Amino acid sequence: MTDLLITSATAFLGGAPVSDRGVLIRDGRIAAIGSSGEIAALPEAAGAETIEARGGLLTGSFADAHIHAVFAGVELGRLELSDCDSGEATLARIADYAASHTAEWIVGGGWSMAHFAGGTPTREALDEVAPHHPVFLINADHHGAWANSRAFELAGIDASTPDPADGRFERHPDGTPSGTIHEGAQELFAHVLPPTTMAECRTGLLRAADILLGYGVTAWQEAILGAYAGYPDTTEAYTAEVSAGTLEADVSGALWVTRDLGDPDSPIDAEAVVADFERRRAAAAKLGFRTDTAKIMVDGVAENLTAAMNDPYVCECGGGEVERGLAYFSAEDLIALVPRLNARGFNAHFHAIGDRAAKYALDAVAAVPAADRAGVRNHIAHLQVVDPADVPRFAELGVVANCQALWAALEQQMVELTLPILGEERAAWQYPFGSLARSGATLAFGSDWPVSTPDPWQALHVAVNRQAPGETGTPKLLPDEALSLAAALDGYTRVSHWLLGTPGSPG
Ligand SMILES: [Zn+2]
Repeated sequence: MTDLLITSATAFLGGAPVSDRGVLIRDGRIAAIGSSGEIAALPEAAGAETIEARGGLLTGSFADAHIHAVFAGVELGRLELSDCDSGEATLARIADYAASHTAEWIVGGGWSMAHFAGGTPTREALDEVAPHHPVFLINADHHGAWANSRAFELAGIDASTPDPADGRFERHPDGTPSGTIHEGAQELFAHVLPPTTMAECRTGLLRAADILLGYGVTAWQEAILGAYAGYPDTTEAYTAEVSAGTLEADVSGALWVTRDLGDPDSPIDAEAVVADFERRRAAAAKLGFRTDTAKIMVDGVAENLTAAMNDPYVCECGGGEVERGLAYFSAEDLIALVPRLNARGFNAHFHAIGDRAAKYALDAVAAVPAADRAGVRNHIAHLQVVDPADVPRFAELGVVANCQALWAALEQQMVELTLPILGEERAAWQYPFGSLARSGATLAFGSDWPVSTPDPWQALHVAVNRQAPGETGTPKLLPDEALSLAAALDGYTRVSHWLLGTPGSPG
């Protein structure tokens, strides 16, 4: 490998960036860092290929600590709606696609709840633009979908179909499903949807990797390895590409803890879950793929009332448990599972949106003996609503905050769908990254692509400004929770690499 000399860079080494830095890279590794003059004068620098950075930023690469790279890559090859900026534009895109689509099913997604009244588009609207095909479209956050009448018919779902324990159908007053499908109810279409093949997953992974490398993301953690929302377990796509040497990135994955649990009458068989994970971890490791993490989706999302809250939502939502959202696991199940996972060397990677979900996750980690906790890197992703009383527990328990900072802005979905159902007090507890940092917690970052853009700079922008990229003069979301650029950049680079266990990453 040719040696590389970079001069007059503004280097980010943690803390304030340092100007006029020179870096010598030999055999793909940093051999020396100093002033441009010092480094250029090294005898080893003679003959190296030279890049004059002219003050440009030189930083460690990004690591994305929560991503669905395979889903993202596969979806880019299907009907893609994420850049449609209104409901009309979304329907027009679907109409165009249907007019030229020859296969039976239309699948794809990326539509935004904020573009439809109440966040719940109807099957009738889809029937109008795509009358001949069955249509099933996952929404941007991947916690829901939208289907047309033909798809409901083929799946055998009608007014008499009950909601499953881990999801629900929006319904017309007469009980017939109205088109929007939340959470686990999506699985009731799995038997009729065209299967996603492993070949599609492998192509999707390489397509996603190209895009990520273009953003300077050289490591990531696939946040769900297991059957989910119509996708197969994508572990094989990773092991195939890693063992073939075709992925120019350091990748790891989180094994999915099936969530059709949470039933107090049928407690989780934690030992069976861990034993299965040990077998899968060993098999993947033989092919060079790290799966030393367990993904536990504790709850859903706020907009569809499935985020688990300590106190009821501010809404007329039918009473009962729905009022506090859905927890996919009971507190007892998590206390049975997480200490076992940690004892056997698995990090827990929780999804928690509501304050009750974050509390369950922290309580489960608190049940782990300190010695076992010290040997793993537990993290909670998303953290939309965190009870201020729970903020200091992250540092106390060594739980890393895995932040999707792009979401910490007053965008349309937040203003129209989320704020009204949270109420004023809880609305002020959202994405408390500044409070977490001040309490001594460690912060890592990830995109959750394809839910959001994989571009780390957009997330960093919001982490620092608490305002959507491109906006100025509009209100900021809880500006006291902003991070310094140095803290956020350190989190998305050094800390995230450490969290994922990137070989050679600094501590
Ligand atoms: Zn995710």
